[in-house]
Amino acid sequence: MRKALFWDLQGTLGGDAIASIEEFEPYPFSKEALELAKIHGYYNIIITNQSRIGKGTLSVETYEREAKRIEGFFNAEQPLIDEFLCCPHQSSDHCECKKPKTGLIRQSVEKYGLSIADCFVIGDMGKNEIVMAHNAGCKGILVLTGGGKGSLEAFRNTWAEHEADVIAENALEAVKVIIQ
Ligand SMILES: [Mg+2]
Repeated sequence: MRKALFWDLQGTLGGDAIASIEEFEPYPFSKEALELAKIHGYYNIIITNQSRIGKGTLSVETYEREAKRIEGFFNAEQPLIDEFLCCPHQSSDHCECKKPKTGLIRQSVEKYGLSIADCFVIGDMGKNEIVMAHNAGCKGILVLTGGGKGSLEAFRNTWAEHEADVIAENALEAVKVIIQ
């Protein structure tokens, strides 16, 4: 079975939900979460919206440096991250890759021959990750780190027509639910 976890980055594996990627620091449990997923046969694919690039407040060079730093941390002992995918656009660009659109999931499904129904999206923003999961045809897990609590409260209206399939305390707890 070819299956993947589509990970949000900021607010899910570390850092803050809306800060610049330059401020990203991994959460203490994130490496274990990725490792547990690997042990159970999942590809780990990060999908991150970086609209700061489209808006011109984050350069591509800085983004690439930061992505390399983060990937280097997670993959230092063993290759835990299979893909690190980014949408650099802003909404007005009308791209196909900005979450909750599914362009980057479709690309991964093709590349790895994934069975989408066996995949999960894990993230802290209901309007991005949970809606993307449902748009793609898989389950969405909302984590309560980053903007997770806000997604269930102040920002619930931004994804009102959807429900998280699972709500988990954090990334590690999310993987534990998946592999049960
Ligand atoms: Mg996030």
